[in-house]
Amino acid sequence: MSDYVSTTNACKLCTPLGACLAFRGVEGAVPFLHGSQGCATYMRRYIISHFREPMDIASSALGEKQAIYGGGPNLKQGIANVVKKYDPKIIGVATTCLTETIGDDVPHILHELGREWGGEKPLPLLVNVSTPSYQGSHVEGFNATIKAIVDQLALETGSEIPGRVNILPGLLSPEDIRHLNEISRDFGFHATILPDYSETLDGPAKAAYETLPEGGARLGEIKEMCRAAMTIEFGRSLIGGDFAGSVIGKRSGNKTIGIGTPVGLRENDAFFGALEKTSGLKTPRPYLLDRGRLIDAYVDGHKYLFGKRAVIYGEEDLVIALASFLAETGIVPVLCATGIKSPSFKNSIESVTEGLAAERPLALDGVDFHQIKETAEKLSPDILIGNSKGYKMAREWKIPLIRVGFPVHDRFGGQRLLHVGYRGALRLYDEITNALLETKQESSSVGYGYL
Ligand code: SF4
Repeated sequence: MSDYVSTTNACKLCTPLGACLAFRGVEGAVPFLHGSQGCATYMRRYIISHFREPMDIASSALGEKQAIYGGGPNLKQGIANVVKKYDPKIIGVATTCLTETIGDDVPHILHELGREWGGEKPLPLLVNVSTPSYQGSHVEGFNATIKAIVDQLALETGSEIPGRVNILPGLLSPEDIRHLNEISRDFGFHATILPDYSETLDGPAKAAYETLPEGGARLGEIKEMCRAAMTIEFGRSLIGGDFAGSVIGKRSGNKTIGIGTPVGLRENDAFFGALEKTSGLKTPRPYLLDRGRLIDAYVDGHKYLFGKRAVIYGEEDLVIALASFLAETGIVPVLCATGIKSPSFKNSIESVTEGLAAERPLALDGVDFHQIKETAEKLSPDILIGNSKGYKMAREWKIPLIRVGFPVHDRFGGQRLLHVGYRGALRLYDEITNALLETKQESSSVGYGYL
């Protein structure tokens, strides 16, 4: 494997795609790619197919000439066109491989544009982020964008706003974001969730098409994020790193708590524990009941799941969270794989499964589907858990694939998959158990109708 140099079916997506998703979670924002037209077309197609919502992404549409002489004039003209067409509150400018390679100085070009602006409408807020795709993945692009938004907009400091908390959830589903909002509300908090695409990427049907969908994290609240009582940043890979949470922490005096993405019992206990500590309140009864039901399900379903072998792949923090959850259930996460290069991945997998997994999970980072398949095949998995891209393996091996995360292109409702909270864990638990039962039932020579 060490001399393998090309990538076959990458287990990660393009870096500015993550930026576009993050910008979509801000009120009145238009994501804008500084690069050639094809990048925006590919990303729009990819995102629409998962969320089944319109997704406009503007582009500076560079051609051969700009690739040689620089894309500054196109970027300025493109922004002027977006202002005319959308009248947005904010334009999120992300770079692409091309503009990173030619070395366009985007912050400088935007600064110049601010000085020269003579448009009929005022120039909206401009946030820029550097997202060269040859350096990272969609997750790095997503995290860099959240950091850029906080760094460039959350400038207000001062007295604490009572009842205000920030949640930096990472790349979760719109359904997850709605549930996080509900949980925070039930603790008496007003949460600024960044990004919040719970409505912009999963909104109701409307009689007339909206060029800019309603919803998104409110700009006024983003500006005030450093005045919140606490910031919770999900994702074990981000703990102690230089991300949005640390920007807020440094500006506001270290009120950021980094925890794992709350999937399963223990990671949710940490999340609810943080809310209890900050609010001074006990977890509301509906969530205690959810927690109790989850434990009850663990007991009832143990005989079906114990010792089953799972392969998990996808975004680093979701894979770590799922490994933690599966280990609690008695399933052995025999292979945990991510396309992202991460020196801490192996340690994180070890730490969340320690003392629980009957077999030490193999953790691979920076791998593609070719390598995942080659390794997984030897481990005789019973089940795959990840995005749609693992379907070919599941089909070949005749084992179930539980679709989680992003993208889900071969099923309906990917945007409404609930992963977080005790309730999300219970939903996942039922789906996994039933998928294994169904496989057993379907392959039985006698057939049975009672378990
Ligand atoms: S050229 Fe780069 S930025 Fe554009 S779609 Fe391809 S990987 Fe993404």
